[in-house]
Amino acid sequence: MKVFITKRIPDAGIQFLREKGYEVTVRDSLQLISGEELVHGVRGFDGMISMLSDPIDVDVLKEAEKCRVIANYAVGTNNIDIKAANAHGITVTNTPDVLTEATAELAMALLLAASRHVVTADHFVREGKFQGWGPLLFLGKGLDGKTVGIVGMGRIGKAFARMVSGFNANVIYHSRTKKDVAYTFVDFDTLLKESDFISLHLPLAPESHHLYTENEFGKMKNGVVFLNTSRGPIVREKDLVNALKSGKIAFAGLDVYEFEPEITKELKAMANTVLLPHIGSATEKARNDMAILAAGNVDAVLRGEAPLTAVQVK
Ligand code: NAP
Repeated sequence: MKVFITKRIPDAGIQFLREKGYEVTVRDSLQLISGEELVHGVRGFDGMISMLSDPIDVDVLKEAEKCRVIANYAVGTNNIDIKAANAHGITVTNTPDVLTEATAELAMALLLAASRHVVTADHFVREGKFQGWGPLLFLGKGLDGKTVGIVGMGRIGKAFARMVSGFNANVIYHSRTKKDVAYTFVDFDTLLKESDFISLHLPLAPESHHLYTENEFGKMKNGVVFLNTSRGPIVREKDLVNALKSGKIAFAGLDVYEFEPEITKELKAMANTVLLPHIGSATEKARNDMAILAAGNVDAVLRGEAPLTAVQVK
């Protein structure tokens, strides 16, 4: 049977499939995939390992012939029309858990880098501007005793809550449902009003698209630190730019963007933003484990067994 992988993933996943006798084709390009190439995948291959940047929509899926499984190499599956896939007899899977710690760690890295000027201060040193210790040099915002508001208390949200708690911060959260955790559940507006730091860990879905606009930024504390390692379109980026310009948001740490890979120009010109190229899960271990899990999902479905981590339509 034939499997199509839309971008090169760690060898462990490719080897896993080849050792089981699958004919594996890897698309060796970092460019965004075209609709034509995706149609080629669902038509001519028994299974596909797709990336979060592959828009597998109704137009692609209506062309499906051979394909029985699409294993997304990500935990988020907002790039796939799961209902349409299922209607064509295609099982959709994702890669939960194996990337949880890596992504929460990156959110932590963004929090510290943004709120303590780590990137701009590094540039300052390299540019030869460091003249000596200064009482007012690069004053930032610390976590000690501050309130961190987490939106989306799922796997990554919980790991991030555990990490910031170690920095002596008080954690509040808002999620679709109240969780059995040691942190305080609050409603959406209370989280906006009370948090000194806000970190997004919810999935992108029609309900969460543009959940953060000028209206929500307006309700936040002045000088809040805003972090997004979930999905870009949850935030209206032009409103985020304005909130940063006005000082409502003191610092932003972003791994994801509304029009990815395009980034609103003004964000790049600001000293109070730290911008990363969607590398939340990018540790060697997480990416290796994701490759093995995605390959395991393809194999399970093609052997007629239950997938390891299927995504259900809600
Ligand atoms: P998860 O375990 O499913 O957690 C998501 C949480 O968000 C769930 O607790 C869910 O509530 C809650 N939620 C859903 N819709 C919500 C809404 N409208 N408002 C508030 N809360 C809402 O998923 P995860 O594994 O933690 O991953 C979370 C997201 O992180 C993924 O969907 C993905 O987009 C993103 N991510 C990004 C990277 C990166 O590279 N930057 C890496 C990995 C993941 P319920 O429990 O009640 O359903």
